[in-house]
Amino acid sequence: MKIEKIDHLGIAVNSIEEGKNFWTDVLGLDIETTEIVETQKVLTAFLPIGESEVELLESTSPDGPIAKYIEKKGAGIQHVAFRVKNIDAALDELKEKGIKLIDQKARIGAGGVRMAFLHPKATNGVLVELCERD
Ligand code: ZN
Repeated sequence: MKIEKIDHLGIAVNSIEEGKNFWTDVLGLDIETTEIVETQKVLTAFLPIGESEVELLESTSPDGPIAKYIEKKGAGIQHVAFRVKNIDAALDELKEKGIKLIDQKARIGAGGVRMAFLHPKATNGVLVELCERD
């Protein structure tokens, strides 16, 4: 598997509306896209930084994964996403190596990317996302 770059950092916020000011007004970044991902019960906002992006994540439901994350650990960096060329091959390779996965198969995430999460127990505590973009 070849990791091409850090695609984005996923940051859990209580509210994008309230949390965005630091990113936009202070750092001068722009929110390029916002999107609700129903399956993950999350509102996402992407802010490009050079070749990578920051993804702000706001839960749309108290029982969503982001709401649970914030309840347990507080707001902050929730995941790191690495871009790969072929996510199916990457997941097969990880399975062969016995790496625990949250998503056994790639699914569609914000922006139409094909993505999958690895289990933090297999990655020294970091929630790692692999993603493939066209
Ligand atoms: Zn992400």
